[in-house]
Amino acid sequence: MTSDARETIERLARQRGFHAIRFAAIGPTPHYDAFQQWLLSGAHADMSWLEQSSPERADPRSRLPTARSAIALSIEHHHHRPPDPGGRTGIVARYAWGRDYHNLIGKRLKKLREDLRVIGIQSWGGVDTAPILERPWAAAAGLGFTGKNTLQIWPARTSWMFLAILFVDAPTEPDPPLKDHCGRCTRCLTGCPTQAFVGPRHLDARRCISYWTIEARGLAPRELRSKFGRWILGCDVCQEVCPHNTTPPDPEEDDLLPRHAWLDLDEILATADDALEQRFIGTPLRRPGAIGLKRNCLVALGNLKDPGGEKSIETGLIHPSPVVRSAAVWAAQQIGGSIALSGEADPSVLAELTANDCR
Ligand code: SF4
Ligand code: SF4
Repeated sequence: MTSDARETIERLARQRGFHAIRFAAIGPTPHYDAFQQWLLSGAHADMSWLEQSSPERADPRSRLPTARSAIALSIEHHHHRPPDPGGRTGIVARYAWGRDYHNLIGKRLKKLREDLRVIGIQSWGGVDTAPILERPWAAAAGLGFTGKNTLQIWPARTSWMFLAILFVDAPTEPDPPLKDHCGRCTRCLTGCPTQAFVGPRHLDARRCISYWTIEARGLAPRELRSKFGRWILGCDVCQEVCPHNTTPPDPEEDDLLPRHAWLDLDEILATADDALEQRFIGTPLRRPGAIGLKRNCLVALGNLKDPGGEKSIETGLIHPSPVVRSAAVWAAQQIGGSIALSGEADPSVLAELTANDCR
């Protein structure tokens, strides 16, 4: 019965488009204490939703009392990066090249749960927006090992994958966790442009480009901005340097096709905010909003130090958002351009000007 349930779940999950399926025995969430310690250290920056008390995050049985097994599911999304168009373009992290994975996986998960319900299996689960620590569960199920870069990695294959966890009321044979395959390697720790790793498997989001370009609503501290280079949404460095990331074939599924690997910085800054929001509906580029995206493009323009970007920076200087205006001030300072701000009264923008004595 146990192996039957396992085989049936595996078959159904594959039919719904999941690439890897692994099983763990139910229990309290593995490494929950370490997560609490990470929160206490403040390394989650202002991602306050992670602090919200959710009993199911600590133990999924508080949501599904009859749960007997955890199922870790993944979808590989690696694509070769198209050639760099150069010029004033910004780089988008791989996870964001196509459709929003929350929608993509959410739909597949919903269908899989319905398939399971039809055969009498009750379930609860989700992706990283649900109160579930998906990586510890994936590690417990042997769906990759947790690298020093905090990500799940299939040894000698990939860490480019989306994860989902499903808890089911069927008993299944658990998979053994994988051993650590990092060994003495420290490439991700030393390669991080902002030195965001406090140590192996300990990321300080307050220094991470992904946090600042996706989740943060404000502008990154001045000392970090110049390290962002051309990253305008996320950052892939700690995965790109990992020797386990080989080059598996690109997925051919339409849902996973890349659409936005590079973005034209001038074009983003010339586009009206509402048009930008519309354009990126259904993609991860929507997450920072038009203001966040323009802020990120201005930081990238500042880092490019290309005087040709001055016109775009000027549009930033007259944007209604003080965050965008502050980023534009910083970008103008980097290329040594003029800063025409008349009647500026916002303290955060004035502070940017003062920081370089440019007033
Ligand atoms: S995503 Fe980039 S900035 Fe963040 S930890 Fe990895 S390498 Fe560092
Ligand atoms: S780069 Fe090296 S240390 Fe970092 S996750 Fe990969 S194997 Fe581990």
